[in-house]
Formats: sequence, structure tokens, C-alpha cells
Amino acid sequence: MAGVVCPRCAAMDSTRMYRDDEREYRECVDCGFEDSMRLDGRPEPKELETRVSKEGVDPLKNTPATEPEAQPIKFFVNPKLQKKDH
Ligand SMILES: [Zn+2]
Repeated sequence: MAGVVCPRCAAMDSTRMYRDDEREYRECVDCGFEDSMRLDGRPEPKELETRVSKEGVDPLKNTPATEPEAQPIKFFVNPKLQKKDH
């Protein structure tokens, strides 16, 4: 599909898009990257959400692959430490 850049290998125009009743899929023919999103915009089921976030970086956020893993840990650790100090 023209203008689509693969979030994994950044190849232009190598990403195919197709859809079924519920989802729209992206698939890179260059590196084998696969991603999907729900057409109705609802959150992914937890099982899929984990898999997708590990495999690919959201092109809109454009963050390095290491950051999404580090951030949830900070969220849990900081509030606990502050409570103990008080
Ligand atoms: Zn690719």
C-alpha cells in the first residue's frame, strides 16, 4: 500500500493491508512484520495486546522498542515508594 512504512524495518511500500469483519491487518513482505487493529476502535484483548506491543512500536509515538517495557514498571514502583516515605 502506497505511503505505508513498516514500523519494524522502515521499508516503504512493502506493507500490505487487508481486513476481515473485525480487524484490519498490516503485513510487511520485507521482514515478516504483522500487526492488526480492530475496526471499531475497541481495545485489543489482553492476550493480543501483549503480543503486538512486544513485536512492534507504535509508529505514531515513534519511541524506541525498549521504552514501552520500562514505563509500566515505573508506574508501579513510584507510588509504593512514596507511600512508604510517609
Ligand atoms: Zn518490514
